[in-house]
Amino acid sequence: MTSSILLISLLLAIIEKSHPLILTSGQRIPSRQSIHQHASQNARLGPKSFFDLPAIEKFATDNDLKEHHLKGLYRVLMNADRSTLERTVLEEQLHALSFPKKQISSLLSTFSLTCSIQRIEKSKGGAKFVVQLPNGKLIESVLIRHERHNGDVRYTTCVSSQIGCAKKCSFCATGTMGLVGQLSSAEILEQIYLLQQYVKEEKLPGQVGNVVFMGMGEPLDNYDAVHEALRGITHQCLFGLKAKKVTVSTVGASAQKIRALADEAPQVCLALSLHSAIQSSREVLIPSAISIHIDDLGDALDYHACKSGGRGAMLEYLLIDGINDSNEEARALTEFCLKREGSVYVNLIPYNPTLAGDDFGFRTPLDERINAFHDNLKASGVKALVRWSTQNGRDANGACGQLVSSTA
Ligand code: SAH
Repeated sequence: MTSSILLISLLLAIIEKSHPLILTSGQRIPSRQSIHQHASQNARLGPKSFFDLPAIEKFATDNDLKEHHLKGLYRVLMNADRSTLERTVLEEQLHALSFPKKQISSLLSTFSLTCSIQRIEKSKGGAKFVVQLPNGKLIESVLIRHERHNGDVRYTTCVSSQIGCAKKCSFCATGTMGLVGQLSSAEILEQIYLLQQYVKEEKLPGQVGNVVFMGMGEPLDNYDAVHEALRGITHQCLFGLKAKKVTVSTVGASAQKIRALADEAPQVCLALSLHSAIQSSREVLIPSAISIHIDDLGDALDYHACKSGGRGAMLEYLLIDGINDSNEEARALTEFCLKREGSVYVNLIPYNPTLAGDDFGFRTPLDERINAFHDNLKASGVKALVRWSTQNGRDANGACGQLVSSTA
C-alpha cells in the first residue's frame, strides 16, 4: 500500500516537472506541450523574454512561485511604462506583491524584454514599426488606427510570424526575402507589447483591440509558436483579448493545418488569402497553391466553419488589374462562396504596388473596375466589401503586402 502511494506521488512529481504549466486559470486557449522546444529559438545567450510563457512557467515551478505570483508579474508588466520597467522599480513592485526576495533577483536576471523598436514610420492610418529581435534580425509590425462613427478610436496590431516568408507569392514584398527564420511565441507577443506601449507613451486615444497575423510570414508555417502566442494574446493576465478579436491569415498551403487551427482555436478568426477561385490562376499568383487543390481548400474551410459554430472564414482577394478581376474570375469566386452557403465573406483588397509585383507588371485596377467586381459579387448574393483602408500605410510602405526588412 505504502509503496503504491509512493509510486503515485513519484508519478505525480514527474508529471508536474514535465508539465510545468501554472498560468492556467484565465486562459482561453490551452497550451500545447510541443511548444517547449520552440520557445526562444532565436534568442542569443542572454535573458529570456518575460513573454516566453513556457520558460517563465518552468522558472516558477522550479523556484516555488505560485500562479498568483505570475499573475502579479503580468499585472505589473501590462501596466508598466518605460520608467516603471526599470529594474529597481520592478523589484519594488514585485516586493510589494510578496515575491520572495531571492526569487525577484533571480527572475529579473533571467527574464527581460528582448525585442526593441528600431524605427517608427508614421503614416496616415497608423505607423509601421521596425522591430529588432534578440538575434539582431529585423522584422516589421504595423499599428492600424480605426475611428468609429462615434469618434471612438481603437487599434489593430498587425504582427509578423516569421522573418521573411518561404511562400514567394508573386505580388508580396515579404516573399522576396525568402524564409530567414521563425519567430518564437515570445517574439510575436513582444511585438504587441511594444506597440501597446507606444500607444500609451504617445498618449494616443484608444487601445489595442485586435490582433491580426497579417505581417511578415505564413503563420501556419510556424504553427506551434503562433498557437502559443494565441494563448498569451487571449490570456486574461496578459493581453486579454477575446479569441474572436484575433485573426490568423493564411495563404492556405496546408488543409491539415487549417483543420488543426479549427480544432485547437475555433473561436480565432480565420482569413484565407484566396486571390483566385480558379486553380490555374491561383497557382500563377501563389506558387505554393500547386500543393493544394481549390476543392480541398474549400473542404478545409467547411471544416473550420463547422468547428467555429458557423462563423466562417474571411476570404482575402487581392484585385490586380487584368489578372484576376475579370467576370470569369468573379463567377468562379461567386460559385466558391455560394458552395459555402454564406459562411464566408470576401474582402476585396486593391493591390498595393510592390517591387515583387512590378516584375510581373502588376497594377492596381481603376476604382470603377474594383467597384464593378464588387457589384458583380453582391448581385449574386455574396457578402463582400472593398477594403479601401488596406491602402493606408502605402506612404510608409506599411500597407498589406509591402512589409520587407532589408537588413534581416
Ligand atoms: N501569409 C499570410 C499572411 C501575410 S500577408 C497570408 O498570405 O495570408 C497578409 C495579407 O496581405 C494577405 O491577404 C496577402 O495576400 C495581402 N497582400 C500581400 N501582398 C499584397 C499587396 N501587394 N497588396 C495588397 N495586399 C497584399
